[in-house]
Amino acid sequence: MGATGLAIQLAFVVAAALFIFGLKLLGSAATARKGNLLSAVGMLLAIVAALIDQGIVEFQWILVGMVIGGVIGAATARLVQMTSMPEMVALFNGFGGMASLLVGAAALGAGDSNTFILVTIVLSILIGGLTFTGSLVAYGKLSEKIGSGAVTFSGQQVVNSLLVLAILASAVMFCLEPANSMWLYAIIALSLLFGIMAVIPIGGADMPVVISLLNSYSGLAACAAGFAINNNILIVAGSLVGASGIILTQIMCKAMNRSLSNVLFSGFGSVSSAETVVEGEIKPISVEDAFYVLEAATSVAIVPGYGMAVAQAQHVVKELCELLEENGCEVNFGIHPVAGRMPGHMNVLLAEADVPYDQLLEMDEINPRMETVDVAIVIGANDVVNPAAREVESSPIYGMPVINVDKARTVFVLKRSMASGFAGIENPLFYKENTRMLFGDAKESIGGLIREFS
Ligand code: NDP
Repeated sequence: MGATGLAIQLAFVVAAALFIFGLKLLGSAATARKGNLLSAVGMLLAIVAALIDQGIVEFQWILVGMVIGGVIGAATARLVQMTSMPEMVALFNGFGGMASLLVGAAALGAGDSNTFILVTIVLSILIGGLTFTGSLVAYGKLSEKIGSGAVTFSGQQVVNSLLVLAILASAVMFCLEPANSMWLYAIIALSLLFGIMAVIPIGGADMPVVISLLNSYSGLAACAAGFAINNNILIVAGSLVGASGIILTQIMCKAMNRSLSNVLFSGFGSVSSAETVVEGEIKPISVEDAFYVLEAATSVAIVPGYGMAVAQAQHVVKELCELLEENGCEVNFGIHPVAGRMPGHMNVLLAEADVPYDQLLEMDEINPRMETVDVAIVIGANDVVNPAAREVESSPIYGMPVINVDKARTVFVLKRSMASGFAGIENPLFYKENTRMLFGDAKESIGGLIREFS
């Protein structure tokens, strides 16, 4: 190995170390930015070293690519609304899958193709392909460009099983006859189709699990592509993404009290469960009346959800929180693991508004205190505070742990209408005796409360 070869291997080792340290720092909100930066530097190092190593392009082209990619990346990061981040993450996963598919396909014929290499090529194409189309479907569901519900039809499991068999048969034929490109095209087409078929039956509140599973798949596809082209850093990066995605999937499943197979195969909400029968009536409240109740409160629990992101209300929420504290009230935030549209969505927003981390309590911490809370303020949350999960056995979310705001003395629900949340189901919370609905855009309603305080 020459001096260049040594330098490249060293760059790979440093890049791998940066990925691992970066990942470690992502474990806490306080160090997450640093972790992101370290991992990004690691990725830059890895890409440049790999391009030089393989002699793929001249150095100046690497610079041109970096500038074009950097400009596109910076522009998208600036232009994409905070509420659209989850969709962007879904697209990133999909592009990662497509990249692995292309690398896998290009690896064929690039060197000696023994059975091991052929198998890794099949895996990178298969996992990459299904990640690509699966992520596009997830993108469509999250952005509600297509219905967010589960799409099921009779015989679906049979069709999917036949698809898997066809993929297996094509994979075996490909390994036996790699020169016959028909098998390669068959695997590509079938895996793309399989991605769509695997994700359409999953919908509603189960989507968080799918997003993190697809994230994990994009890593596994990259890992397989790394074996196919014998690139260690791709194997390391792919394994890290694959493993962390699986861990996150596990956490998400636990948060929703579902098993992975139940999420993947049961079709959320597709079984026409009896409509939740709600009793009681809606009791709207004005900003002025809500203020009088809050002024007298000594403990408040704020439970944010997706609507806080839509309203971009995090800064006014922080302001209200400070006013309440100045008034001698104890304020805590209850954060549900799947609130919003991506893991950690609420934490990111509240961190942006400088809400101290120790004020953010997880569901298991806030629930036991709920009975002692004077006012629970639900800001644009719906599914994650739905008591039907505890009370209505026929509800599609029955058994999912939720934040029990209905146990507080009084509940204020800030939302614009009686519309349902992402899961598309009725919420009996709005009809409870101790609930008051503060209708309107969350940012405006909280702005009104702040004006009353000052
Ligand atoms: P929901 O989607 O259940 O509810 C959001 C509520 O916000 C809506 O009912 C809406 O009511 C209200 N809202 C929207 N805009 C505003 C506004 N400007 N001002 C005030 N209110 C507003 O959100 P939750 O956070 O409670 O639950 C998350 C859901 O998303 C769960 O079902 C979860 O499974 C799913 N999900 C989560 C992911 C994750 O990783 N966290 C990923 C994908 C899906 P209205 O229109 O009346 O204002």
